[in-house]
Amino acid sequence: MTKPTVLIVEDEAPLVTMLRYNLEKEGFQVCEAGDGEEALVQIAERKPDIVLLDWMLPLVSGIEVCRQLRRSPETRALPVIMLTARGEENDRVRGLDSGADDYVVKPFSPSELVARLRAVIRRAQPSAAEEVLQFADVTMDLAAHRVSRSGKTVHLGPTEFRLLRHLMRYPGRVFSREQLLDAVWGHDVYVEPRTVDVHIRRLRKALNAYGDVDIVRTVRSAGYAIDRPAGH
Ligand code: CA
Repeated sequence: MTKPTVLIVEDEAPLVTMLRYNLEKEGFQVCEAGDGEEALVQIAERKPDIVLLDWMLPLVSGIEVCRQLRRSPETRALPVIMLTARGEENDRVRGLDSGADDYVVKPFSPSELVARLRAVIRRAQPSAAEEVLQFADVTMDLAAHRVSRSGKTVHLGPTEFRLLRHLMRYPGRVFSREQLLDAVWGHDVYVEPRTVDVHIRRLRKALNAYGDVDIVRTVRSAGYAIDRPAGH
């Protein structure tokens, strides 16, 4: 995999040096911009994978840079983490009003920052990072649209496929019927919550066709999760 490129937009030189050192050590490719205008030019030219954007910048503020990025179709989805000094983090930052994906308050530890960077990049590129989902002995090849269990093909209908994909993205997490309807069927479609039960039943039957352990967990009055049953 190619190294992800981080654009650091910050006017405090010592902080830039520290960030560059730590990010390069963690396998990132680093470029720099010292003010908001230069940041916009660099983003247009170099298309970084993520932008680390200081809130207090000369010329164009971090917030304004972020707004401009969100307005343009080419950069709308570009991940941005805002850097703020303690005391600057007012409601606008906390609510991520400017369109930033996350924010980090100075002073921060490099390891915390790297963890946030990786999380935001991962969320931004679900298709690249998740071509194959794996849980227990179940494998979902998203690109090939193929599901197998212990190497044997599992035949799923399109709804069951989307349902399993959603559950396998968040193993262990319980989703209510309403949450599953939103995620799998979409907000605009009206479907009875009980419909989810029907498709879960089909999914379970298909997954367990070879007499394997049931990994679809029903949580009474709460919903469903993909989980390892007790003792396995
Ligand atoms: Ca600054």
